[in-house]
Amino acid sequence: MFLHIAKIYKPFEFDNAYNEFRNRYPEAAHFLDERDSLDRWTRAYCSKTRYNIMTTNGVESINARLLEERKLPIIALLDSLQKLASCRLEFDVRDRGHSAIVDLESKRCTCRVFDIDRIPCAHAIAASWLAKIDIYDLCSEYYSTMSWCMDYSETVYPVPEENEWPRNINFPLVLPPLVKKRVGRRKQNRIPSIDEFSKK
Ligand SMILES: [Zn+2]
Repeated sequence: MFLHIAKIYKPFEFDNAYNEFRNRYPEAAHFLDERDSLDRWTRAYCSKTRYNIMTTNGVESINARLLEERKLPIIALLDSLQKLASCRLEFDVRDRGHSAIVDLESKRCTCRVFDIDRIPCAHAIAASWLAKIDIYDLCSEYYSTMSWCMDYSETVYPVPEENEWPRNINFPLVLPPLVKKRVGRRKQNRIPSIDEFSKK
């Protein structure tokens, strides 16, 4: 339940779920209140973009949008830019009776999935279809193959032999978890065969 509420996007939904959590597990809620502020462990109240990632996606998105226009003479290019600037990039998307406001320029949606995960939500995908913007340009560059390759571009050295490890570090003593040993054989879930089903 803790993991579930930590991943909620909208603050009001989080508040309701956290109240329920507090009723069911008052000691755990008290521990969390004492230990960390909400912006440290909840998605809904984290004031920064997750992991504080900054991207140049806005510029790249416009660049990709002007791929063909860039080949035009200067006056025609300015005309295209003017048209693009006057084009509305905000949409009201209706989703099974719910409304979501998407801003493709700032890459935000009131459902908050687009803002936080940096991948277009269903509403942004619908809006991008109308605005004729490639959805891949709306994703963070950190999801690109290039970024993934760069993550692994450094050499990863093997761990040295244990007797070469530094001796002056006080490692904490890590004990195995306390587990109650059950008496008797383990209960097994048996899936009845088709024959047994048909007899019933
Ligand atoms: Zn959305």
